[in-house]
Amino acid sequence: MGSLRSLVCFLVFIGVAASGCYGVLLFDSAWKKEQKLHLNQITNAQASAIERRLGRSLSATYLLSLQIRFANGNMENFNSFADETIKALGGISNLQLAPNGVIERIYPLAGNEKAIGHNLLKDDKRREEAELAIRERRLTVAGPFELVQGGVAVIGRNPVFISEEGKDKFWGFASALIFLEDLLAVTDLEQLEKDGYGFTLERVHPDTGSWEIFSQSEKALDNLHVSFPIIVPNSSWRLTLSRPLPDRPLLIEEGFVLSILLAAMLASLLAYIMREPDRLRAVVADKTEQLNELAFYDVLTGLVNRRLFMEQLEYEVKVLQRTGKKAALMYLDLDDFKRVNDSLGHAAGDRLLVEVAQRLQATMRESDIICRLGGDEYAILMMNVTSGEDCQHMADKLISNVRNEIVIEGVPLRVSLSIGITLIPDDSSSLQQMLSNADIALYESKKLGKNRATFFNHDLQKMLVQRLQIEQELKFALEHDELELYFQPIVRLDNRQIVMLEALIRWNHPEKGLVSPMEFICVAEQCGLIIPIGDWVLEEACRHIRQAVDQGEPLVPIAVNISAHQFVSGDFADKAKSLLESYQVDPAMIEFEITETVLMENLDLALEQMNELRQIGCRFAIDDFGMGYSSLAQLKQLPVDTLKVDRTFVRDIEHDHHDRQIVEAIIAMAHRLGLHVIAEGVENQSQLEFIDQAGGDMVQGFLFSKPVPYSEVYRHELLV
Ligand code: C2E
Ligand code: MG
Ligand code: MG
Repeated sequence: MGSLRSLVCFLVFIGVAASGCYGVLLFDSAWKKEQKLHLNQITNAQASAIERRLGRSLSATYLLSLQIRFANGNMENFNSFADETIKALGGISNLQLAPNGVIERIYPLAGNEKAIGHNLLKDDKRREEAELAIRERRLTVAGPFELVQGGVAVIGRNPVFISEEGKDKFWGFASALIFLEDLLAVTDLEQLEKDGYGFTLERVHPDTGSWEIFSQSEKALDNLHVSFPIIVPNSSWRLTLSRPLPDRPLLIEEGFVLSILLAAMLASLLAYIMREPDRLRAVVADKTEQLNELAFYDVLTGLVNRRLFMEQLEYEVKVLQRTGKKAALMYLDLDDFKRVNDSLGHAAGDRLLVEVAQRLQATMRESDIICRLGGDEYAILMMNVTSGEDCQHMADKLISNVRNEIVIEGVPLRVSLSIGITLIPDDSSSLQQMLSNADIALYESKKLGKNRATFFNHDLQKMLVQRLQIEQELKFALEHDELELYFQPIVRLDNRQIVMLEALIRWNHPEKGLVSPMEFICVAEQCGLIIPIGDWVLEEACRHIRQAVDQGEPLVPIAVNISAHQFVSGDFADKAKSLLESYQVDPAMIEFEITETVLMENLDLALEQMNELRQIGCRFAIDDFGMGYSSLAQLKQLPVDTLKVDRTFVRDIEHDHHDRQIVEAIIAMAHRLGLHVIAEGVENQSQLEFIDQAGGDMVQGFLFSKPVPYSEVYRHELLV
């Protein structure tokens, strides 16, 4: 009995000691996994940052190659085009043209002169990657390598093919050069290295096919390290990050001793202790799952992260090719998210991002893949699409669900969403192109005023290139006096006298002739050129008034059109006042025309500027009235003097009973509010008579005169 008891005691002791030691080992393994989990998260973020920066900068080569094809290889405007593109996309050190593989042009050239004339197809170190790009006909990232002109850089080479007599012929390369230093500047690697981390950046060398380190920390990698692939066009990179293990909370040796002591003391509690390894095993399983989650899921929202999304997208595209089914890729971006972050703080911003993610999930189907790309950007791969209407319907639902009120920290918010959609495989079945298409469509949504969804089409891509072109030409026009001001008389109805002139801008383009403002004001507004253009218009108007006063010519006020962006810039009133002063022009000689949408969207800022200018005597008119959203009742609050009825109402006045009633109502109401009414676009006698009978005060239109140079305004007798 006694020996049986000691045997039991011995067995208990052995059992407890053994499970204690096993527990210590499991605990140690869980602790290491936790360290790895942390490292994983950091490595993932660094790899994504490099990937996104590289992707954005390399998209320059697509724009450039498109432009080369448009221009049939003749890139006279290369420097200005490259300048715009580098500014717009950022991160690019220079853009290059290499017809037939020989570097012929570089922008900016300074410091790179040595590379001119370099033949990539004959250089042993460059040839392999250059030939790969031509063979596979796609963007290929080469390097990093030491440049002929100094420094270490990667180059994205996009082979350009131009069709000649029906055949696609290799023209050369459109390349973007990105200094490795600039690329790494978007990461935290420098700081991490200071904090004791080690890293290596490697690529698969095209000649040897094996991994080669091209950037690394001074300190070698530690035992605990994690690698992440970086998706690079036509090349393979990876980032490995390591950090020394911090002090262990429990040393293994101590743990063993403790276990043996515990075993002796707690032999009687064997049954309970035996259960402990199970619990620890569960902890390890839990940590392992967390590790997987972090590598593939966004920590904040729980959505699929960029990495997993790209993998799934690649996989699904292959499935689509087999099955012949369709899908849609959507890029989504919250409008003005920065404002929420700035005003309510980052914690509130995070909560908003989570709520939006939940709403996206609730709206989409189970089979669709929803991802948080980063920041306030999401992406959705919508499966089983039968038509564009399907997507439109879904996008509308997403927009309206996200727009419903969200209460964050007691503050009710309404956020809107912009979406860009590209259909797969209709628009493209190349992964890179798909992503670029969705980006272009999203950009268009933003440009059209946000809170909407736009489908990609090839015209959008062309328009992007054309817009860049107009922008460059317009800048040139402004600097080289190609802009001109025309004037259209505004006539009083009761005595048929010219009582005002509207200043309308024209662009005397050296090739296209006289270009209408409808073609360029919109571009000027988007790229900010409207500010110097608007300043020029106002100065030109002041100059004409000054000249008329000095030379005793007929003098009437001039109406000047003002765009929203001028108001938003904030110093509009100050600039206008100093112009009036320097030309010594009576402020009553200027009437500013603004559209109602401008007013309503920026009411506070607009009112401030308007009141300041009205105090010194300037007048204001609402232009194109009837096309916006404001009601006549709202007009009561605005400091305006004149209402210009949009010409679309006047156009159909003879045939459209409804338009007639609208015009009559606008005139009557405006008079009750003490405003003058100008009818725009009067082209014939019967329109004139109608406006007269309806009580309009003034008219403007081709019936009296088209817009003409100032010197011709008084040259003709008014015919009517
Ligand atoms: P808006 O301010 O409503 O100017 C009136 C437009 O109607 C002018 O077009 C004028 O030529 C046209 N129009 C006048 N009478 C008739 C008519 O009887 N029949 C027809 N069919 N059209 C008539 P324009 O000059 O092409 O200007 C278009 C728009 O461009 C202007 O509309 C204005 O919004 C903008 N714009 C013109 N100059 C400037 C400027 O200096 N600054 C800004 N921000 N915008 C300008
Ligand atoms: Mg106008
Ligand atoms: Mg108008």
